[in-house]
Order: sequence, then structure tokens, then C-alpha cells
Amino acid sequence: MRRWYPPFNGKRYIGNINTNEVHDLDYEKAECKIDEIKNDHVRTFNPDTYEEAKRQGFDNCAHCIGNSNY
Ligand SMILES: [Zn+2]
Repeated sequence: MRRWYPPFNGKRYIGNINTNEVHDLDYEKAECKIDEIKNDHVRTFNPDTYEEAKRQGFDNCAHCIGNSNY
């Protein structure tokens, strides 16, 4: 579920710089625990794409994207 307030600002892909995982909020699961990510740890992407998150070295969340490296 997308969040229309900062620091998410309606973005689809949300990186957690603490765990180095990227989440897809359109397929968010409870296990993603998005609301437990500290605001300081939230990274959004420009453009807001999976490819950009991967380019920046983020690993997939196993719950909402799958094929995690870990
Ligand atoms: Zn996730």
C-alpha cells in the first residue's frame, strides 16, 4: 500500500538503507514491516523503478518482490 506522506511521498519502490532491501509497496506484505522503518532509513528512487533500486545495489525484499540474495 502506498503512503502519500513523507518520506514515502506516494513512491512505489522504497529502499531501507539499514537492511539494504528494496520493497514494492504495490505488493506489500505484513512481513515487510514498512511502518517500522525509521524515516532516516527510507530511500526513494528517481526514477521510481525497480531497475533504479537494483542499480543502486539494493537487494530484493523476499516478501513483496522475491528472489532475495539472502
Ligand atoms: Zn517487502
